[in-house]
Amino acid sequence: MEYRILGRTGLRVSIIGYGASPLGNVFSETESDECTRAVHSAIDRGINFFDVSPYYGRTLAEERLGLALRGKRDKVHLATKCGRYGETSFDFSAERVTRSIEESLKRLRTDCVDLLQAHDVEFGDVDQIVGETLPAMRELQASGKCRFIGITGYPPEALREAASRHDVDTILSYCRYNLMITDLDDVLTPLCRSRGIGLINASPLHMRLLTDTGAPEWHPAPMEVREAGRKAAELCRAAGASISEVALRFCLDHPHVATTLVGMSKQRHVETNIRAMSFQTDPALVVQLDHLFAPVKNTSWPHGWDEPGLRGR
Ligand code: NAD
Repeated sequence: MEYRILGRTGLRVSIIGYGASPLGNVFSETESDECTRAVHSAIDRGINFFDVSPYYGRTLAEERLGLALRGKRDKVHLATKCGRYGETSFDFSAERVTRSIEESLKRLRTDCVDLLQAHDVEFGDVDQIVGETLPAMRELQASGKCRFIGITGYPPEALREAASRHDVDTILSYCRYNLMITDLDDVLTPLCRSRGIGLINASPLHMRLLTDTGAPEWHPAPMEVREAGRKAAELCRAAGASISEVALRFCLDHPHVATTLVGMSKQRHVETNIRAMSFQTDPALVVQLDHLFAPVKNTSWPHGWDEPGLRGR
């Protein structure tokens, strides 16, 4: 395993990070024992950064991760989140954030997490995030409940605004840097570089769109993006490669991202994703994929309260 320093936190994190949302059955059902095997296998292979949230599976992912980490807590850097608890359930108040960490620590069976992140800040009122949420999180840091604090979300502008108005140690961005989209580098990479903020890139498989299985039903990408993903998977198969390996490899090559979080709940995915570290994509395939993705490159979708279905709620 390769390791990089996560910005000013100084944490030495594996370049492949363990995304624990699938432990909450977010994508599909996985048996608890298989989740435990996946977590143990990841630790055995040197993965030492784990990201979870009370939101994933409405606390199920934290519960399962806490169980799987019994006796292994000292081998990993553990990140969780606060502020998001359901699809439309958010509470970024100081009181909720303070209660939230206590609940997470209990589920995760630890007395301190390495990183506490405000989850999906674009759904909050930015004045509250910078004036109340992040200061409360700094107090939790001072009291020893978390070692560092960060923010997560989808629109780069929302993350930039929050990080420009209140100091944070890390930023987690998702679905903004992978084979289909690279606009992470327009806004967030320069910000993180100039401020020493640790940069975490999540969803290298574009939330399963860049896999042979394809996107889940709830995936927010427009049809033409899903279709391009399906064709890319075919193209890779025909070339004797796997789209997930090509996609993960692409993300691991980013020069400034400290860790790329890939969601896993199955041991076989852990093994395949570890293999991506030594995989080299055939340059001819890269050219073909670039050509295929060109019409949909950098397509994003409305998010936050502008998301279809959430508008006006
Ligand atoms: P992802 O792109 O990592 O895709 C995960 C999906 O791909 C899962 O269904 C998983 O089972 C499947 N998969 C993994 N490896 C595979 C392989 N080798 N072959 C085929 N399928 C494979 O998307 P993600 O899980 O959404 O993102 C990774 C992690 O980043 C999350 O688990 C979470 O920890 C974090 N994240 C955070 C936020 C946020 O804070 N707002 C948002 C998105 C993701």
